[in-house]
Amino acid sequence: MQPDADVLIIGAGACGLAAAIAAHDSGVNVAIIEKLDRPGGNSSLSTGSVPAAGSRFQREAGVVDSPEQFLADLMRTGGATDCPDLVRRLVDTSAATVEWLADAVGARIALVTAYKHIGHTVPRLHAPASRRGQDLVDDLLRAVETRGIPLALGNGASALLPDGRGGVMGADVETISGERQRIIARKVILAVNGFAGNRDLIARFCPEISGAQYFGARGSTGEAVLWGEQLGAALGNMGAYQGYAAVSDPHGSLLSWTTIEKGGMIINGTGDRFGDESAGYSGYTPNVMAQGAPCFAIFDQRIFDVAADEEEFVELANYGGVKKGATPADLARLHGLDPDAVTASVESYNKAARGDEPDAFGRRDFALAPLKGALYICRVVPGLFHTQGGLMVDDDGRVLRPNGRPIANLFAGGGAAAGLSGRTGASGYASGNGLLSAVGLGRLAGLAAADEVKTRSAA
Ligand SMILES: Cc1cc2nc3c(=O)[nH]c(=O)nc-3n(C[C@H](O)[C@H](O)[C@H](O)COP(=O)(O)OP(=O)(O)OC[C@H]3O[C@@H](n4cnc5c(N)ncnc54)[C@H](O)[C@@H]3O)c2cc1C
Repeated sequence: MQPDADVLIIGAGACGLAAAIAAHDSGVNVAIIEKLDRPGGNSSLSTGSVPAAGSRFQREAGVVDSPEQFLADLMRTGGATDCPDLVRRLVDTSAATVEWLADAVGARIALVTAYKHIGHTVPRLHAPASRRGQDLVDDLLRAVETRGIPLALGNGASALLPDGRGGVMGADVETISGERQRIIARKVILAVNGFAGNRDLIARFCPEISGAQYFGARGSTGEAVLWGEQLGAALGNMGAYQGYAAVSDPHGSLLSWTTIEKGGMIINGTGDRFGDESAGYSGYTPNVMAQGAPCFAIFDQRIFDVAADEEEFVELANYGGVKKGATPADLARLHGLDPDAVTASVESYNKAARGDEPDAFGRRDFALAPLKGALYICRVVPGLFHTQGGLMVDDDGRVLRPNGRPIANLFAGGGAAAGLSGRTGASGYASGNGLLSAVGLGRLAGLAAADEVKTRSAA
């Protein structure tokens, strides 16, 4: 049967768009389908930050880095992983990935040096100046359009087509208006992201965060896992996810983690601190979740002023999500908390920050704390951003069976594939892990799929 496309890409986030561009530029014909009526997925909601070690942008900024150092950072942060070879490969190709983004795609990215990143020992994130993932997606979309690659919005894959020999040969597609069609392709790349928007899969694989609000795009409903299981694919790192410990409540926007990293603290509804906030915005999510009710971030004017460089924080403050009080007791009253308990928690935190006594929860980095003068308070709840578990793939994104053999013609990348953040929990997530897998593995899968097409045609 004559295929409709050499390479069919399912999903138009950073992974799918990167895969499409790489495959097209290798000389094969490519088509992208996207189930929603707009492209971008979670990639649009992210900060667009892609980590790379040894990039020319780092060299120009005088940052000394290496794949070895990056790998050591990821392994320290993530711990044991089901896919060590994949982590190594994405690290080794990370500089090539961001340079390809800048040169072949024309993405407007630069090295971020302004602030520290969770899990990284040196500045390594390459992002749009706006820090908006939408800008990265727009650049990828422009590159797709310039190349004339067809992108069909509102066309969701409803099933993969088995080829009768254990592999795949395309997908069944359903449009938003309910029309159905079948697309035959030599290779299929699953770029559908993870399963954070699928409550059943979250309860099954990430129970500790089950019940948290999901803050990602609504397309992440876990088809890669569901279809992979049907085809007999292996799954990896299924318990790992990226959370956010401080979503403002009830406003629903993110309270900038700068407020905590620069010395803020978090208390629960009884006015007590309950952990070491320096675990990071993702790593601290289960601690906040375990309180079972909204918590409260507290910081001072100096910290407020640093966070005020960030647009979203200023908006939150302007909309009344951040309230000011002259004393800890005043803050407590703003939210109906016990003034004595809040005062005691702030005093004890400040003693630890001054070095007068060890912190009860082992926090060592207090940045600008002890907290001084008038204080700010923001009610927060935990959120789920995306899952980091998915299909086990080889170094080029080929989907694998438990015996390590590939499922013929099927590739996966980004959130559809097993990720870089260790096997389980929220603490293994280093900034940029999601997009490195999306752009880096998307590109590699696109190249490998195109190579397979060309090799077969030449045979
Ligand atoms: C608020 C937020 C902030 C984040 N910040 C960062 C960050 O700074 N750095 C970082 O590295 N990561 C970050 N992440 C995670 C990162 O966004 C994701 O890991 C990454 O975007 C995944 O890319 P993707 O292409 O795999 O998925 P997506 O970008 O989600 O794209 C998948 C696409 O597939 C489509 N799709 C799904 N199912 C089907 C189907 N059956 N048929 C057709 N199409 C389908 C979806 O609609 C979607 O458009 C953040 C996530 C969130 C939610």
